[in-house]
Amino acid sequence: MHDQSLGELRAGLDRKDYSSVELTRHFLGRIHHGQRLNAFISVTEDLALEQARQADARIAGNDSEFLTGIPIAHKDLFCTLGVRTTCGSRILDNFISPYDATVVRKLKSGGMVMLGKTNMDEFAMGSSNENSYYGHVKNPWDEKRVPGGSSGGSAAAVSARLAPVATATDTGGSIRQPAALCGLTGIKPSYGRVSRYGMVAFASSLDQGGVLARSAADAALVLQAMSGFDRRDSTSLDRAVPDYPGCIEASIRGKVIGLPKEFFGQGADPAVMEAVEQAVRIFESMGAKTTGVELPNSEAGIPCYYVLAPAEASSNLARFDGVRYGHRTEQYEDLMDMYERTRAEGFGEEVKRRIMIGTYVLSSGYYDAYYVKAQKLRRMIADDFQRAFEKCDFIAGPTTPGTAFVIGEKSDDPVSMYLNDIFTNSANLAGLPAISVPAGLDHGGLPIGLHLIGRYLDEATILNAAHQFQQRTDWHRKTPEGFE
Ligand code: GLN
Repeated sequence: MHDQSLGELRAGLDRKDYSSVELTRHFLGRIHHGQRLNAFISVTEDLALEQARQADARIAGNDSEFLTGIPIAHKDLFCTLGVRTTCGSRILDNFISPYDATVVRKLKSGGMVMLGKTNMDEFAMGSSNENSYYGHVKNPWDEKRVPGGSSGGSAAAVSARLAPVATATDTGGSIRQPAALCGLTGIKPSYGRVSRYGMVAFASSLDQGGVLARSAADAALVLQAMSGFDRRDSTSLDRAVPDYPGCIEASIRGKVIGLPKEFFGQGADPAVMEAVEQAVRIFESMGAKTTGVELPNSEAGIPCYYVLAPAEASSNLARFDGVRYGHRTEQYEDLMDMYERTRAEGFGEEVKRRIMIGTYVLSSGYYDAYYVKAQKLRRMIADDFQRAFEKCDFIAGPTTPGTAFVIGEKSDDPVSMYLNDIFTNSANLAGLPAISVPAGLDHGGLPIGLHLIGRYLDEATILNAAHQFQQRTDWHRKTPEGFE
């Protein structure tokens, strides 16, 4: 059962090959078997079985939707009614959410069964899932290596077949990087497509929810169900959501792929570049054309992102003060002392680093030199994409500079960790949809990700291209050894 696509699971449930309760029990057993990966912060076994029973009743009453009865894991950044929501942080270790995030509510009302909450970098800050208060996550392909971050728990869970699909979030690459490093398909939609209501905020102008799945077809189904306008999120877009599953079957003949010279220069491992070039040839064999494009400001992406994201984070994280919710220090002298001790105890090292950088770049005297300058660069980066999309339908390149690295290898060097985002964070700065698709294995047998960036609001084209690529290749079907 754990190797079936969402479409096959739907058919299996409808044919009564198994019930949702049986399916849910099967995945709960897999989670138990894969415990050493540390992919989950909470496993909500009783609730899952209760939801599965309700789903079975809906199926029996002919009241099911496509995803009814299919299990899912949620990144522990989405608020879940009555269930602990930690965001990977000690400061929220005891936080039980009084409401569901819109994404969770939508998938729940569609009848999906929540298996649990997945591990993640604290407040989604990281590229390797080594920054979680709950310990690092292991990559199922090689347990000495990182799964990528910050949605590393969701990625490890789907890759090891502990869950058929998972939600995730992406501020600078956190869906696409773990997708690349764990051999999955991960899509970050356009900014505003998926409601941020009930997503614990990191950098509000960049954060976006999305999906980690085994194929573009699966991702299209879940993205469809979680997208759409939400009046509770002031940045949510009031636009019709296209029929993603219906869009992916079209031929990509005549589509133009933009190849930015900035993504094809130095910077990525030869094995990664080889796989990307091979993927482009496969697209060409399907009738797509290529053209060179320029993204002249892409070099500024990392410095720009690492000014803006910490600036927004320093403001968003001010709410964790030991008064409203979450951890509070046990002994303190006065109110100031309580705030300071609570935050000193509650936040990890990387989160503190971001708060300090963010406070610094927003302080008077430095605001113009850093924050305002970064905002201007952000506009220039977005304009570059706009010009590039006059010549092409989507852009292709590598998702990450390398494959999964060894746990601990980069954790003492924040700048080298930040450089993992080099190909991903410009899509967040420009608000564009982007997807990572498995496109090969390196010499050590580790997965490689192909990155496709689409026009604003055009998730359909990149899902279509990814699905067509998956009709011609088998990379997305590969399973890490021991989890078959
Ligand atoms: N690696 C980036 C960071 O640490 C992106 C994280 C994310 O997308 N949530 O900020």
